[in-house]
Amino acid sequence: MLLETESILSIIEEFEKGKPIVMPIYPSAVYEFLKEEEELNIIWRKETGYRYGRWSNPTVRALEKKMAQMERCEDGLCFSSGMGGITATLFAFLSEGGKMLIIKEVYGDTLSFVREFLPRCGVEIYVHSIEERDEIDRRIDEGLDLLYLESPTNPTLRVIDIKNITMKAKAKGIKVVVDNTFATPINQKPRLFGADVIVHSATKYLGGHNDTMGGIVVGSREDISKIWVIRRLFGNLMSPFDAYLILRGIKTLALRVEKQNESAMKLAKWLEKHPKIRKVFYPGLESHPDYEIAKAQMRGFGGMIAFDIDTNADGAAYFMDSLKLIRKAPSLGSVESIATRPAFTSHRNLSKEEKERLGITETLIRLSVGIENVEDLKEDIDRALKDV
Ligand code: PLP
Repeated sequence: MLLETESILSIIEEFEKGKPIVMPIYPSAVYEFLKEEEELNIIWRKETGYRYGRWSNPTVRALEKKMAQMERCEDGLCFSSGMGGITATLFAFLSEGGKMLIIKEVYGDTLSFVREFLPRCGVEIYVHSIEERDEIDRRIDEGLDLLYLESPTNPTLRVIDIKNITMKAKAKGIKVVVDNTFATPINQKPRLFGADVIVHSATKYLGGHNDTMGGIVVGSREDISKIWVIRRLFGNLMSPFDAYLILRGIKTLALRVEKQNESAMKLAKWLEKHPKIRKVFYPGLESHPDYEIAKAQMRGFGGMIAFDIDTNADGAAYFMDSLKLIRKAPSLGSVESIATRPAFTSHRNLSKEEKERLGITETLIRLSVGIENVEDLKEDIDRALKDV
């Protein structure tokens, strides 16, 4: 064999003794077969296996199995972003003439997709605040194809009684999807309350280090195989490198989340007594409207806090610019603490009335608590509040 031929033949190292302790990254986009029949069996889904990188990938599959286990589900799928997973899930279960209800407090881009794109496909949309529980129950009784929830919500951390609403929906045969990004499976497992499909932005707590993007969807084998078809056609599978990073992140998820739960609780209690703070939103505080639900439903209250500063919009901007340790950035759930002003960032597209109704004032700060020492975080906030 001549050198140019030899050079393109891969050597695939087998592990006879000593196996890798972590899941390797498999960049292969194509998989070969000893016999053609083996490939045909995969195409016709008679057997599972790898064939083409847009269909599935072993590193990605390891993460799917890991997350399915953690959320107590049968199977899972990984996507290139949280939105990739959310949109594929909605396309899998909704078609022309279908009806869905989504709560108004969900992540902004989820709501934009539902409001702007699904009606183009002939899907009827109902959007209700979690406060409009009677309206939600009425819509459930009238019949829906899908109910989409998120809990805790962004940025005021409202907590929905998932079991209660899911039981009503399931009795009517409605598919229930829950975005569990804020809680993570460490703090909440919606499947145990009857939810069908659980979606995550893995960009947040699961990855946990602000260095990767991804989405993960878990549910029954049957539901996941329907969503798999959409992922295959949309082509938005997670890359093996991102799957590797998220698998790595998940190893410390429980440790990080426990620390974040603890620090967020300390900060919330401290902020509640701070003379420059008008209101604190944290489901672990007895003053929070959903404290009792959160206590029953969640193992920890999470690492997200929102607080309203007793000032005007300029004062809040001054506070943001005075922070030194806490970063001003979008996103959440990482080891670094991050602050943002939702009225101008994540929720900028809501009308003035909608923002007012949801408590999203120009002085509201959303804080994603990281794993720094909580005393350093207090010092940073206290100093930034001084001249406000
Ligand atoms: N769900 C929630 C609760 C989010 O906060 C986000 C992003 O901020 C998403 C979904 C979308 O995830 P991604 O940005 O990974 O597409």
